[in-house]
Amino acid sequence: MKVFRDPIALQQELRGLQGSIGFVPTMGALHLGHRTLIEEARGGNDIVVVSIFVNPTQFLEGEDLQSYPRKEEADRRICELSGVDYLFYPNAEVMYGHDEMYIAAPDVRAYVLEGLSRPGHFDGVLTVVLKLFHIVRPTHAYFGKKDAQQLALIEQMVENFFLHVRIVPVDTVRESDGLALSSRNVYLSSEERQEALKISYALKCATKMIAKSVLNTATITQEMEHVLVPLDVEYIAFVNRDFHHIEQVELGNTVILIAARVGTTRLIDNLFV
Ligand code: AMP
Repeated sequence: MKVFRDPIALQQELRGLQGSIGFVPTMGALHLGHRTLIEEARGGNDIVVVSIFVNPTQFLEGEDLQSYPRKEEADRRICELSGVDYLFYPNAEVMYGHDEMYIAAPDVRAYVLEGLSRPGHFDGVLTVVLKLFHIVRPTHAYFGKKDAQQLALIEQMVENFFLHVRIVPVDTVRESDGLALSSRNVYLSSEERQEALKISYALKCATKMIAKSVLNTATITQEMEHVLVPLDVEYIAFVNRDFHHIEQVELGNTVILIAARVGTTRLIDNLFV
């Protein structure tokens, strides 16, 4: 595995190669969720590139940019063992200049839900992903459904800017008890981790109701609220694939999303139905 910190050097190296390039952008502190994305990329491509970059422009003032878990050595090892060919490990100085242009995410998909409590977050995400796509020029790029809104916006960016890359969505990887894997789970104490399980229980509860043909989203939300007590719930939302709120579940076209705080840790999870 080759490690690059310089975007131009990586760009030049990759330009000289033949074959499909599978790309997995991450912020590091790699877990089984990331490894699953890497495995998918490994299975479907000649070359696999992983980036690790804690992107400052997607963090808002007061968020966990400084304390975000950083595990360079362990991450490097995981990438090596997972068959990654190129690890891109830039810093903010090489990724950003001063007074730069950036991508402005659209209102409907980017200023609801995650974008409502984190205004500007998706501008930062899309800007860095566009930069990474231009550096790596992947044929395929892998993103987790765990970040459903991010995935929808990246798919839209690819369409809007006619980018030549196939976006491959990957199912959320969970612990055996249902907790969605996240780099931020390390912030949870063991009691908080128990509490955090209520998020996936609430999604399971919604699935059971839908299986019994309860499709009214207000009714399902009420039940989910009960399951989530006493968590500090930021939102429970039912949207269609365009991220418009819906009042009736549309089978095959609905995403149920939850954001909640467990202690000081903000967690998100969702379910595609
Ligand atoms: P992050 O390092 O949190 O920015 O995540 C990098 C990529 O891994 C994103 O596409 C995430 O959606 C994806 N990811 C994070 N957690 C999971 C998970 N539990 N299952 C599947 N993909 C995930």
